[in-house]
Amino acid sequence: MARAEADAGRPAGATRLIAVSKTVEAAAIREIIALGQREFGENRVQEARAKWPALRAEVPDIRLHLIGPLQTNKVTDAVALFDAIHTVDRDRLAAALAAEMARQDRWPRLLVQVNTGEEAQKAGIPPQEAAAFVVRCRSEHGLAIAGLMCIPPEAEAPGPHFALLAKLARAIGLPGLSMGMSGDFGVAILMGATEVRVGSALFGERPTPAATAP
Ligand SMILES: *Cc1c(COP(=O)(O)O)cnc(C)c1O
Repeated sequence: MARAEADAGRPAGATRLIAVSKTVEAAAIREIIALGQREFGENRVQEARAKWPALRAEVPDIRLHLIGPLQTNKVTDAVALFDAIHTVDRDRLAAALAAEMARQDRWPRLLVQVNTGEEAQKAGIPPQEAAAFVVRCRSEHGLAIAGLMCIPPEAEAPGPHFALLAKLARAIGLPGLSMGMSGDFGVAILMGATEVRVGSALFGERPTPAATAP
């Protein structure tokens, strides 16, 4: 990350590391906490609820990021658990979050997920609808949006997707850019990522989904 920041001519520390700890057990997470890492990402509310309350009781200044899709029936847990939610992508969810955040008086930082590859199976708002959605989040739902997030299609070069996300964020006037994973965080930092979400490069390869499916 430091090398990519230097190559990009960006200040050291311009990009924050979110350690993606999905499927990783508490013992391995503690090792990285011991090295000073404090920001972590999980993609499932239930897994985060099972793992993180105990870890947080040990280390109070953890910041937990939800980086996976959020169903409206999990909004209560998500607002209670997470300090940032990267996957706001539809009005129904925005409305549910607004109501729940007011109820709990907890205000996680919110990012809008953009489906830059316009993949049918992928979550996120289509790029051409992103600006209007961010405006509705503010004006109709009363939500402050801090930035944009994307997951480029697996089979494509990520650079153009990161560039598109950066361009959208600039046009909308949003400072946050959550983009880049183990395989492409260097490119993302070159393109202006303010936070990268890195899992396997820190924790090792995860079991394949087929091996972990219920
Ligand atoms: C799993 C995941 C990551 C991390 O992926 P790695 O390739 O292991 O670094 C990043 N972002 C999201 C949304 C993820 O689900």
